[in-house]
Amino acid sequence: MTKICPKCKNPFTCSGDSDCWCEDVQIHKKEMLVIMEMYTDCLCPDCLGEYSEK
Ligand SMILES: [Zn+2]
Ligand SMILES: [Zn+2]
Repeated sequence: MTKICPKCKNPFTCSGDSDCWCEDVQIHKKEMLVIMEMYTDCLCPDCLGEYSEK
């Protein structure tokens, strides 16, 4: 499923289930809640990477 990243407006794919790449990105639950509130949807790999734990 192709989505448009609400942050950078680039198209990316997200299946929205547990098989999705975004499930593998290590993000703090707190950060995830912030993302959900701000963007209501998944972000692209680049933007999500900015929130991931390093
Ligand atoms: Zn993005
Ligand atoms: Zn996803």
